[in-house]
Amino acid sequence: RAKEGGRGTYRVFEAAMEESIQARALMQNDLRDALFKGELEPFYQPFFDLNSGRLSGFESLLRWRHPQRGMVSPGEFIPLAEEIGLIVPMGDWVLKRACTDARDWPAHVKVAVNLSPLQFQRGDIVAVVREALQQSGLPPARLELEITESTLLQDNERVVATLGQLRELGISTALDDFGTGYSSLSYLRSFAFDKIKIDQSFVREMSRRPDSLAIVNSVAALARTLGMTTTAEGIERPDQLRQVREAGCTQGQGYLLGRPRPASELGEWLHSPASPHVLSTQPPRSGA
Ligand code: C2E
Ligand code: MG
Ligand code: MG
Ligand code: MG
Repeated sequence: RAKEGGRGTYRVFEAAMEESIQARALMQNDLRDALFKGELEPFYQPFFDLNSGRLSGFESLLRWRHPQRGMVSPGEFIPLAEEIGLIVPMGDWVLKRACTDARDWPAHVKVAVNLSPLQFQRGDIVAVVREALQQSGLPPARLELEITESTLLQDNERVVATLGQLRELGISTALDDFGTGYSSLSYLRSFAFDKIKIDQSFVREMSRRPDSLAIVNSVAALARTLGMTTTAEGIERPDQLRQVREAGCTQGQGYLLGRPRPASELGEWLHSPASPHVLSTQPPRSGA
């Protein structure tokens, strides 16, 4: 009896799996057309300098408006696009679009673009970036590329060489989601990043967990010592903003400071470029 029950359970499991495999394949088919149909659009989320409250730049975060399903999150469709190699043309497109959008912003405002490990593996990422800069006319100093640790797990020497070539173009690089995955301090030595983005999980837990707060403080201090800047991700509340400022993080990003929005809706930030939230948590100046 137990055996039968077990087999029955297995059959249900198998059916569910088959269904999800089918659903995946369907989504991947839709995704192949999404780019041509204009269903993909980068949104932009601001990040601010925590000392001056000034707008530093926008991170481009891809959105997919599926005709039936509505908004599909990148956490869902980026892995699907990676699985079928579609992330490569899709990523090239995002890069070009982001550089073109950023050309309209004030000269000190950067654009940060997320890169998939697959775009790195392919080998011509340097040429693609150069082309995106040339076509848009965006000065290289205004482009930042965000790379996750999984990119660094691959053929190290090639990644080091590629990052070096990208820096020679005059762009900057950021290590995204730092502290998740395979964080190794030797990465910080082997790869010359300009910036570390401290993962939002630490910022989220900071107020409840002293160990998370300790990690935020230590990473900010370490980065400073190594001559890198830091961005604290996922700031949702004023107390979190205060804590990351006290930790000495250079920049802050999160829903409290601004949610991702379409390029056409960035005016509010572009025209009043200081974050009132950041300014309102300025610690009293000593001696004042
Ligand atoms: P990420 O690069 O770490 O981006 C930060 C994510 O955190 C974004 O999710 C953003 O909307 C979200 N976020 C920002 N502030 C807050 C906050 O205060 N609270 C919370 N709970 N979340 C916040 P999103 O837009 O869903 O993107 C998820 C991930 O998808 C990104 O993580 C990135 O890894 C990937 N992604 C997005 N666009 C692209 C792209 O064009 N290319 C590639 N390769 N990956 C992308
Ligand atoms: Mg990112
Ligand atoms: Mg991140
Ligand atoms: Mg992330």
